[in-house]
Amino acid sequence: MTAERPEDALTARELYRFFRAGEEETPALRGVSLRVRRGETVAVVGPSGSGKSTLLACLAGLDEPSGGEVRVAGVRISHRPESERARLRAQHVGVLLQSRNLLPHLSALDNVRLAQSAVRGRPAASAGRLLERVGLGHRAQALPRQLSGGELARAGLAVALANDPAVLLADEPTGELDGDTERLVLELLRDRAADGCAVLVVTHSGQAVRIADRVIELHDGQVREGTSRPEEVADVRG
Ligand code: ADP
Ligand code: MG
Repeated sequence: MTAERPEDALTARELYRFFRAGEEETPALRGVSLRVRRGETVAVVGPSGSGKSTLLACLAGLDEPSGGEVRVAGVRISHRPESERARLRAQHVGVLLQSRNLLPHLSALDNVRLAQSAVRGRPAASAGRLLERVGLGHRAQALPRQLSGGELARAGLAVALANDPAVLLADEPTGELDGDTERLVLELLRDRAADGCAVLVVTHSGQAVRIADRVIELHDGQVREGTSRPEEVADVRG
């Protein structure tokens, strides 16, 4: 892979991740390279077990690759102590995971505020404004258990966007949502990309693949070549 370009918000170079359990060794990622530009939406698809979640965790700095390098907003996030990765993630990366990113004892509003408190200085948008942007202004004081599935997804998105990240990473964010809510969440992801965010979304959904500018297909921990356009992916179900 050639040098990073200025428009790249996210780059991964030759990522490897091995999981060891006794004598067994699973290679979850085997030399994955990718780049996502500012304003670009990339969908990552592939069968169950192909390494999608492992890839996303390495890109987010939640996990350390066994080899290779990840850069976000021009800064290396891989191969650093966990506390430094957490700081860089809070500054530059929004993460939406299947297990939700909300603390159960805090309201939607306080969950967004908590995420903002991880970064010094005044946030670009207030917590209330962020909830309004995802259509949850009227539910700001609700606790996560008082929210519906679709509302939880939107609150999670508000948390992911708390610090106006350069990179937004989502792991099957619309997995449990009905069609209308899925469309809304995908539209919100597109809006972020239109504002210059680099969006990477792991998905099984045909709808999510259609909104992507580009599709990356993983198989056995490797990028399958020649699958760069949404219309070329015949079957995205794993
Ligand atoms: P996907 O998200 O595409 O379904 P994953 O990234 O979750 O795939 O998993 C890729 C491979 O790595 C699978 O074989 C899985 O069993 C293995 N794996 C993932 N996480 C761990 C872990 N913490 N310990 C051991 N093996 C793991
Ligand atoms: Mg997964």
